[in-house]
Amino acid sequence: LLIRYKKSKKGKLVKQAEVYTAEEHGIKLKKVDPDAVRILHRLQRYGYAAYLVGGAVRDLILGQSPKDFDIATEAEPHEIRKLFRNSRIIGKRFRLVHVYFPGNKIIEVSTFRSEDSKGFDNIFGTLEEDVFRRDFSLNALYYNASDETVIDFVGGFKDIKKREIRAVIPLAKIFKEDPVRILRAIKYSVNCSCSLPFSIKQKIKNQSKFLEPVSVSRVTEEFFKLFASGQASQIFKLAYELKVLRYVLPELYYLLKEHEIENFRTYFFTALEQLDKKTGADSKSRAMILVHLWADLIYRHEKWQNIKKIHGPDLYKDIKHLMNPIIPANKDVETACRILISHRRYFKGDELPRFQACASKSHAKKKKGLPHVTP
Ligand code: ATP
Ligand code: MG
Repeated sequence: LLIRYKKSKKGKLVKQAEVYTAEEHGIKLKKVDPDAVRILHRLQRYGYAAYLVGGAVRDLILGQSPKDFDIATEAEPHEIRKLFRNSRIIGKRFRLVHVYFPGNKIIEVSTFRSEDSKGFDNIFGTLEEDVFRRDFSLNALYYNASDETVIDFVGGFKDIKKREIRAVIPLAKIFKEDPVRILRAIKYSVNCSCSLPFSIKQKIKNQSKFLEPVSVSRVTEEFFKLFASGQASQIFKLAYELKVLRYVLPELYYLLKEHEIENFRTYFFTALEQLDKKTGADSKSRAMILVHLWADLIYRHEKWQNIKKIHGPDLYKDIKHLMNPIIPANKDVETACRILISHRRYFKGDELPRFQACASKSHAKKKKGLPHVTP
């Protein structure tokens, strides 16, 4: 373990960061996406500091395979853009660069942000500043692909090993500044089997209401990500217990709480467990997520139970209402309604697996005369 020092204002040497060697942190370079490595090397060749950062470093230390590989660099967006032909600058308030690869692969390259860049303003900073605007210590590690070291300014490596979630941004402002971090904390707690400390849980309980006015599109994005994560069941159990669901999906929250339908809570979390087990291209499409979310309610609710044929436009309106304030795309709601209507007779109720017949969208498409569902 190497220690990086810096000079304090009084001129004294103080510890700034811990630097872990490949042997110590255990990340194998060959586990890092080769395109990400190429980007890192190219940036460095042109004289810019560049690191793999965030979720990828965390997941590699945990021995999991990262979903995406994010890069942080001192190069500014227009400079990054110049180095990669297949890239585009995106974002309004905080600009960053997407580098595109075949097969819809995108690697996100962002410029170090300064601590002052509250929210998402375009104030670029140094590596030392970038660290302190990352949400949790387990997300604040920097991997240098050239010497294969991990730089840790905030004790994140030890936290990962201890399976602990610790806020880098002061607790007093972490969720106030960006309430979506509440959903992120819950996600990491489940994905990384880390416990949420009491202080963070308390903050979440007291501040979940801040999620209400957050931009609908951001919550919608994060929400569908959680559902497709393969651990939706545990994540939503925790979100329910911490009452976060009350502000993200209030209709669902009250249904789970109030036993309007007997055993609904068990049915619902079983449905999510099934969704989590699903693999395959379309199995976690947004439409399929909606089907899993609402099938139990639709099929078991007295409103529909004794009716021969579910009325499409009615169901469409109901699903829109149930999802409020989250706004799924109309076409996803339409597809979900079609599947729900045409597959009711395949619904096995308590028998597992309950959704065998609606495994894919194409199955629904093949059926002739699908119901018209838009109101
Ligand atoms: P996932 O595994 O779901 O992709 P991730 O940790 O990689 O999780 P991303 O949304 O890909 O999360 O963001 C990459 C990194 O950017 C995070 O690890 C974190 O350091 C930082 N980050 C992202 N969103 C926020 C936020 N809202 N507040 C503070 N830091 C953030
Ligand atoms: Mg990521």
